[in-house]
Amino acid sequence: MSTKHPITVAYGDGIGPEIMQATLDILDAAGAQISIEKVDIGEKLYLAGHPTGMGDDVYESLKRTKVFLKAPITTPQGGGYRSLNVTIRTKLGLFANIRPCVSFAPFVKTKHPKMDVVIVRENEEDLYTGIEYQQTPDVVCATKLISRSGSERICRFAFEYARRFGRKKVTCFTKDNILKLTDGLFHQVFEEIAEQYSDIENEHWIVDIGAAKLADTPEAFDVVVLPNLYGDILSDVSAQITGSVGLAGSANIGAKGAMFEAIHGSAPRRAGQNVANPSGLILASVLMLMHIHQPECATLVHNAWLKTMEDGVHTYDIFDDSISKEKVSTSSFAEAVIKRLGQKPKTLAAVDYTTQTGQQSVAHHGTSVKQQERALVGVDIYLYCHEDVQTLVDHLQGLQQTEFDLKLITNRGVEVWPHHSEDTLCVDQFRVRFEAKNPIKGGAITALLTHCIENKLDVIKTENLYTFNGAKSYSHI
Ligand code: NAD
Repeated sequence: MSTKHPITVAYGDGIGPEIMQATLDILDAAGAQISIEKVDIGEKLYLAGHPTGMGDDVYESLKRTKVFLKAPITTPQGGGYRSLNVTIRTKLGLFANIRPCVSFAPFVKTKHPKMDVVIVRENEEDLYTGIEYQQTPDVVCATKLISRSGSERICRFAFEYARRFGRKKVTCFTKDNILKLTDGLFHQVFEEIAEQYSDIENEHWIVDIGAAKLADTPEAFDVVVLPNLYGDILSDVSAQITGSVGLAGSANIGAKGAMFEAIHGSAPRRAGQNVANPSGLILASVLMLMHIHQPECATLVHNAWLKTMEDGVHTYDIFDDSISKEKVSTSSFAEAVIKRLGQKPKTLAAVDYTTQTGQQSVAHHGTSVKQQERALVGVDIYLYCHEDVQTLVDHLQGLQQTEFDLKLITNRGVEVWPHHSEDTLCVDQFRVRFEAKNPIKGGAITALLTHCIENKLDVIKTENLYTFNGAKSYSHI
């Protein structure tokens, strides 16, 4: 008998308690070697004044167990509540979100009967750093942050996942035709990592046409790795087109812990009726069993679940008169799965996780970030300004300063000087680019700023302009 693996369990809100009970009943019947630490999270905690929807006991438990099986929660309406998921991901460094999206045709109706895609989403960076500002009455702004280290880690994770699970191809989606530095870095890192996995095919798509292709022909994809925002959107699209979001589970993995959950929410209108589909959480628990090295149990549960689907034992959300045999409640579905433990599906492909070797690598393999020659060559100054463009130009050109040339003025990223279209909508935020005549030190920028402020310019923020190894490393506009 193996030692029991401690796991932290939260029953959540809405349909959460019902689907968690169903899942735990199945795990218990399947002989999962787990010992449960139960914690409370969600709506009650938010309303009791915990801004992240959980108390310190959750971290204490997670420090011990490092594994979180979590039911969905309800976020109360109104402002001031922070996302519990984002908080846990950040605290535990859960950098990878993995979401297998598989069709179960002909037993669940779908337009894509051959779909079997795994979405690997970067979980910590991109626009989800949550760094946002209101800069002027008219303008708000968010920061999109992509690091080489973070991109290397998630791209490597995707290739390691493909290798471990015998998958053939990893596809990367970015928008680097527009976001040349941020998405450009992610794409470049993807290519570099791909070179180290010559046994696995790789390809890159621009995210818009890639997303269209994914929604239209998902069978053309295998593992897809994406920056955070595209991953968030496309993992829901992918789950939905398998036939139902109610069927997908997801894993959030980091070096210090992991969190497993269904991808759907707490469906409050279905709460307390014993009707919800527990499948998403059951499949999330299969991912958890793999993570805690219980592949026999993972295989047992997954095959019993597949057999239950195949036998037409369905909850209301996927019940279809032409396919389904029996419409069951949440608890009856769990009983049906338990009854089939030890059986394998006949039409759907049975799984066997016992043959998979090795553990998914989550180690930080170091980073290839190298020291680079960095030179400060100018500054973009953001101004809160109601003047028309020519008045602003006159104002700026009247500044008595010698170290910089005024190179460019933009409004909402559109050039308004030296070239200007009459049709450009100008808002109350301008960006003014000064480039240095010679390499400079930070003190020169401070002096320029002081000069601007003394001349009644309303400076909102600045962004230094650098060259790295002699190459301009900022957008040309
Ligand atoms: P939802 O996923 O809860 O529900 C969307 C639709 O799908 C509803 O019609 C619902 O009845 C149905 N549905 C969802 N899961 C189902 C299941 N297992 N079985 C049968 N039907 C199911 O999304 P929502 O309505 O936008 O959000 C409800 C609450 O859930 C909100 O408070 C939201 O913040 C929260 N939420 C939590 C998580 C999480 O904890 N990870 C994720 C998403 C939403």
